[in-house]
Amino acid sequence: MSEKAILQCEDVTVSFDGFKAVQGMNLSLEASGLRFLIGPNGAGKTTLLDAICGKVKPSGGSILYRDGIDLARRKEHQIAELGIGRKFQAPSIFPTLTVEENLELAMKQKRGILATLRAKLAAAERERLAEHLETVGLAGRQRARAGSLSHGEKQWLEIGMLLLQEPSLLLLDEPAAGMTDRETEKTGELLQEIAKDRAVVVVEHDMEFVRNFASLVTVMHEGRLLMEGTMDQVQADDRVAEVYLGK
Ligand code: ADP
Repeated sequence: MSEKAILQCEDVTVSFDGFKAVQGMNLSLEASGLRFLIGPNGAGKTTLLDAICGKVKPSGGSILYRDGIDLARRKEHQIAELGIGRKFQAPSIFPTLTVEENLELAMKQKRGILATLRAKLAAAERERLAEHLETVGLAGRQRARAGSLSHGEKQWLEIGMLLLQEPSLLLLDEPAAGMTDRETEKTGELLQEIAKDRAVVVVEHDMEFVRNFASLVTVMHEGRLLMEGTMDQVQADDRVAEVYLGK
């Protein structure tokens, strides 16, 4: 495992009833930075994220995290505890609670839900919560019911909740899907910001979004790594054009 890598997928295969959704996939991530994972529908992108976070188990290969912990051998909750956060497309927030209450819950998730809400936050925790509200662009919205937020705001709230778990690696599925142009732009900026001190992997179909915010792109096709590079390199690659356009 290279010195700076926080995650190294080596020869990862995931099978569903004999069908290899991911086959012999390699992926290496540095401790910080934003990586986009692209590829045609069915390429295995979501399955790869599922394998990293333990939602599905690889049938082969290893997923080495930090100093060599093999995630392929860990359970989903253990992987979460190791500092890997996963966000799905639909936000999992508590709609009847306020923004602030959702964040409080995330902050103290391990203490049990009801006890958490009733307990007062320490001053330092309040400060941290306020910082997070600012980071995810929800300052001033803390008393709003989560269910009343715009689609974009709900996504940012969930990202804020995930950040409070202090993940070293964050995996996101199309975080800007269904957003307005302005919300999409804010989401890209937010991802770039949070990727400054952790690794962030984003599965994305919106190529304009990728072009605007990606530094490094990994392209998957038929469960395998097709290529990796900057968006310019990816766009200039004949193999990529072929799998996207069927040329
Ligand atoms: P992507 O995210 O790149 O669109 P997926 O990882 O969702 O691709 O899917 C890769 C392939 O694996 C697809 O052919 C899909 O139908 C199949 N697949 C995904 N999940 C399952 C599952 N739970 N059972 C059977 N097949 C699955």
